Amino acid sequence: MARRIVILGSTGSVGSQALDVVARSAGALEVVGLSAGSDWRALLEQAVRFGVRQVAVADPDAAAKAGEVWTAGRVLSGPDGVVELVGASGCDLVLNAIVGAAGLLATVTTLAEGVDLALANKESLVVGGELVRQLAEATAAEILPVDSEHSALHQLIAGEPVGTIDRLLLTASGGPFRGRSRAQLTDVTVQEALAHPTWSMGGKITIDSATLMNKGLEVIEAHHLFGTPYEQIEVIVHPQSIVHAMVSLCDGATLAHLGYPDMRVPIAYALHHPDRIDLPVAPLDLASVGALTFEPPDADTFACLRLAREAGLAGGTAPCTLNAANEVAVHAFLSGSLPFLGIAAVIERTLERLPAVAVHSFDSLMAADSEARRVATELLRS
Ligand code: NDP
Repeated sequence: MARRIVILGSTGSVGSQALDVVARSAGALEVVGLSAGSDWRALLEQAVRFGVRQVAVADPDAAAKAGEVWTAGRVLSGPDGVVELVGASGCDLVLNAIVGAAGLLATVTTLAEGVDLALANKESLVVGGELVRQLAEATAAEILPVDSEHSALHQLIAGEPVGTIDRLLLTASGGPFRGRSRAQLTDVTVQEALAHPTWSMGGKITIDSATLMNKGLEVIEAHHLFGTPYEQIEVIVHPQSIVHAMVSLCDGATLAHLGYPDMRVPIAYALHHPDRIDLPVAPLDLASVGALTFEPPDADTFACLRLAREAGLAGGTAPCTLNAANEVAVHAFLSGSLPFLGIAAVIERTLERLPAVAVHSFDSLMAADSEARRVATELLRS
């Protein structure tokens, strides 16, 4: 029987690559729901192509337009649309490929339904951390990481007994500005920041990769996914993006996961888990790669990495505040109203203005998220 899946954020970079994986699954995967933020035309094309009868569109105006032209299926609207889509679809697995903290509700809904979650939306774990983990434990739903580094770690630690892991090592490409000093970053353009050297991704994560915030978010994500203390999670810059992650064990061995950068590999791993399928990805030819190089990250120049680690260690609302301020700052950078170095500055000042407090509920997280967006927006205007 086919595994019934819902793909949230299907019109994005991860979502559309997930549909490519589904198309190659020879009937092993069936899509029973799709969602987008506002791009209803692309969403309806996907629905028709994959025979899907239910979609959700977060933007109510876009949902209304989709509902007018599409009579072959149901269009759900607004944030509640995703909740209904997941609940009514009878799916076995949800892929959450929504960008930003907007994906938290989908993560919570999926896990609360006891449905397994393929998680690309790292912001869910950054913002919701402990509560998301507790929810998954309470309903016995599994979280399968889609982020390539965490997918690699999931595979590397699968066979290792508890207590044998000394360190998790996340690799970072270093982004388009690797090796530059702060002075060389003052005038970088949006186009330069969007030119990622090894991965092709959506706009927000590409800017996060240029600031190294992406790696900072991934440190927090790894902490929650694998229950690993922050002191045992390290970041190492590896410009070729061939080694996705490494695990150091107590006996001195270090295991590595290698492959060409292609998101279809971790997406297929999560969607088919525990099976593996054939993908049209070239076998790794290390002789032609030639050299794999590694260097420490420059956390002084790329302050976002330091800020994320500090927020993770502070706990409580700090990672939520960090994430919300980052979303506001990245949006401002992309729209040309904030210089590149301003991203870290806005995040740091938002964190200073909003000291971490304990988190008791998802509602308190939503309040912290709104407050951080308000403060970050105010800082942008000052
Ligand atoms: P994209 O920007 O390419 O796609 C985002 C998707 O989310 C689109 O379908 C978009 O719809 C939808 N969306 C946007 N805003 C909302 C909203 N408010 N509510 C509901 N849906 C919304 O992002 P990516 O695919 O690059 O990234 C998605 C997630 O996966 C991120 O969390 C990212 O960090 C993570 N990730 C991405 C990787 C990559 O290679 N791209 C690698 C590893 C992790 P619309 O098209 O209508 O705007």
